[in-house]
Amino acid sequence: MNCSVCGNPLHGGRTVFRCDCGVLAHAHCWGKHIIESHEPPFTLGTMTRDDVFVPNEPVQEEGEGLFGEVSDEVRDEDKE
Ligand SMILES: [Zn+2]
Ligand SMILES: [Zn+2]
Repeated sequence: MNCSVCGNPLHGGRTVFRCDCGVLAHAHCWGKHIIESHEPPFTLGTMTRDDVFVPNEPVQEEGEGLFGEVSDEVRDEDKE
């Protein structure tokens, strides 16, 4: 039996994760399977110094660059 994520064999005696969808994966491949196959909902945000989670502004539907570059940085460099 091979890992459904990386394709390498699942060795006997090692910890293996079996998903509700029936897929088997290495422990270290498990998270990747969840994210790629099941796309769980999540919220991006930041932690304050008081350990409070503060969600970021809601992402617009057209915004594909969730992990892309931040485009609203102010550029105030002078051009010669
Ligand atoms: Zn694997
Ligand atoms: Zn699954």
